[in-house]
Amino acid sequence: MDKKAIFTQVSQLEERLGELHHELRGLKEQLAYLIEENHSLHIENENLRDRLEAQEEAQEEGKNDKASSKKKPFVGEGYDNLARLYQEGFHVCNTHYGSIRSDGDDCLFCLSFLHQK
Ligand SMILES: [Zn+2]
Repeated sequence: MDKKAIFTQVSQLEERLGELHHELRGLKEQLAYLIEENHSLHIENENLRDRLEAQEEAQEEGKNDKASSKKKPFVGEGYDNLARLYQEGFHVCNTHYGSIRSDGDDCLFCLSFLHQK
């Protein structure tokens, strides 16, 4: 093997290492992004569950107390999050909460839940 061939081979190797390094960095960035996204989704999920629980408790109270049957209006950030979640294709109803809605199928439970505000 002559020196020129070895030099060419080393150069090619160096180039491939550079590409791999670049690829690795890209994957690392994606991973960081996914971890961050996972974290915020986790928090959002917790918030939604809290919200849902509060909502269910309020409904229970409403049942037990016919005199004050007027529900508290369900507005604000929590509602927007639920509406957005529904738009993104997830159930927000008690029955199927958090599971994915099959394509284009509106869920009557979800809709009545979102419209009772
Ligand atoms: Zn639903």
